[in-house]
Amino acid sequence: MRAGIFGGTFNPIHSGHLMVARKVLGHFNLDRLYLIPCRQPPHKSSAFLAPAEHRLQMIRLAIAHDDDRLMVSDIEIRREGPSYTIDTIDQMAGRLGGGAEIFLVMGLDAFLELHTWKDQRRIRSAVQVVVVTRRLDDEHAQDASTDRMNAYIHGHLSPDYAFDAIHASWHSTGLGRAIHLLSTDPVDVSSSQVRQRIQAGSAIAGLVPAAVCTYIEKKELYR
Ligand code: ATP
Repeated sequence: MRAGIFGGTFNPIHSGHLMVARKVLGHFNLDRLYLIPCRQPPHKSSAFLAPAEHRLQMIRLAIAHDDDRLMVSDIEIRREGPSYTIDTIDQMAGRLGGGAEIFLVMGLDAFLELHTWKDQRRIRSAVQVVVVTRRLDDEHAQDASTDRMNAYIHGHLSPDYAFDAIHASWHSTGLGRAIHLLSTDPVDVSSSQVRQRIQAGSAIAGLVPAAVCTYIEKKELYR
């Protein structure tokens, strides 16, 4: 079993998230990928945060007619207290069984903070990390992301990772599992942009799946 876990605020889920999810599924040949909305985003303002049940329901609607390997998990929403990724990994590993290979998906910005995460060493030894970048428009941008990651990994995580340029991944001679950089087709959308458009009375069609658009209207979210 090869399973991905992709956490986020998903406030709301949009076509950029879905593009990342599909790309990771295919690239790493996963059997399933869980989208996992967090209960309370650790570093973000909660002023415009839709209730967890709505964020969860919008993910359900977004993936209902998509690749059936895409799934949603309420694991973090149901857990009391702050959402630590290591707890999510432990719970998922327990559910999936011993032989499961877990891929943790995150954006580059989140990755560059990994050394501050609770039990980051255990995270790195438990899962392979997939770092997705929002925009790699050209080769230069790709190189810049690789250089940033390389400097960060050696400076903040461990010097024992070697870079494999062919696969755009780092492999450790120590406890860490592989870290991958995956360039995704740029989809110029963010949840903040969707929320801002709703507030301004602008259309969001195309930025979020149609069923999500309808749900937002019906529930009068983000107004
Ligand atoms: P906000 O605009 O509210 O900050 P967001 O659009 O970044 O939200 P999150 O739910 O916080 O959405 O994102 C979860 C993950 O998805 C993050 O790791 C983020 O980097 C990634 N992500 C979000 N939008 C895109 C996009 N358009 N392309 C690629 N990755 C994205």
